[in-house]
Amino acid sequence: MLREWELIRPDAIYVWENKEVRERLCWYYEVMRDRAPAKYHICARLEIPMKKDELLQLKTEELWKLHDKYAEEVDKIWRELKTKCTIEDFRRWTETSLPETSLLDVKILIAYRTLKECIFCERKCKVNRFERKGACLTTATMRISSYFHHPGEEAPLVPSGTIFFTGCTFRCVYCQNWEISQYPDEGDPVNAKQLAIIQKWLRETGARNINWVGGDPTPAIHVILESFKYLAEWGVNVPQLWNSNMYLSVEGMKLILHVMDIWLPDMKYGNNKCGERLSIVKRYWDVITRNMKMLADRDEDCIIRHLVLPNHLECCTKPVLEWIAKNYKDKALVNIMDQYRPEWLVAKYPHKWPDIARRPTRREIEQAYNYARELGLCWEPVTR
Ligand code: SF4
Repeated sequence: MLREWELIRPDAIYVWENKEVRERLCWYYEVMRDRAPAKYHICARLEIPMKKDELLQLKTEELWKLHDKYAEEVDKIWRELKTKCTIEDFRRWTETSLPETSLLDVKILIAYRTLKECIFCERKCKVNRFERKGACLTTATMRISSYFHHPGEEAPLVPSGTIFFTGCTFRCVYCQNWEISQYPDEGDPVNAKQLAIIQKWLRETGARNINWVGGDPTPAIHVILESFKYLAEWGVNVPQLWNSNMYLSVEGMKLILHVMDIWLPDMKYGNNKCGERLSIVKRYWDVITRNMKMLADRDEDCIIRHLVLPNHLECCTKPVLEWIAKNYKDKALVNIMDQYRPEWLVAKYPHKWPDIARRPTRREIEQAYNYARELGLCWEPVTR
């Protein structure tokens, strides 16, 4: 019998017949089908020969050194498993007991220390989130507004076990999710164990992945990492997906690089100026391309989203597509999104942002599609 989501989204089944999709999302595909371990299992089982107490005594700089050394080791194992993962390998990385100290423990410890002077994202506000909120409007206690099997994501992801955090590192004047990004206290507080229980339930009830989103998931790095410790202990295997504006600091990126199996980054603007005017962030283009280059250089499985904004074809859409063609063309899939509508502040004060106070025209969308085609990008299988 067909499951409900198969009726709504038959493309979620036949998309896997597409060779390019299979090749570009090869790691995710194997983890999704329980033929390879999610990366967090590797991090949780890579032993660091040190007692827990000794680890706690280390200074943060020393923890980072340890992190970088063992992260290289994890990457090596991941690359080998990408080439070939036997049933024995799968069991070795998902079923064996956890060591006293692992790379995942180091990541969790660094993340919790970072909260005292937060630099998870490039805003680097350095506030103590145990005492007050950062610019993302969140304290150390993260809140979620909902979680469910999302039927509306890109075909290879459906049904996607989506977990929505409140708060955001951006202030997009047209935010399509403003009820949760701008009103973080509306959500329910959640700790790492509760997050792990939610993930377990989502996976056991058919989710192909765990989709971290918001707002933006960056302020929640500490609690997400800690939740993996439970999943690893319980032997739950599920691909982890980072669905984000990608405005992370280098430190934030390093903490999540070795635990995410697939990426769903937004590339919104093609320059710093539009980022500053429409999302109120500095150095948008510099930061986002730096982080995206990290993913491209590692050959990470990735579906890049670009929301076409009206009147922003020349300044944003074209440079974004050109960057992908130059840096990530043979590996990333691209979703060119046509669903922009003026929301939040733009809906209230359209005269302040007249350029984006309407939906994009069919012609603008077609121009974006044609340009992607000219550049030879792989976008059709994941663009609806
Ligand atoms: S996540 Fe970013 S915005 Fe939030 S407190 Fe940390 S540095 Fe500031």
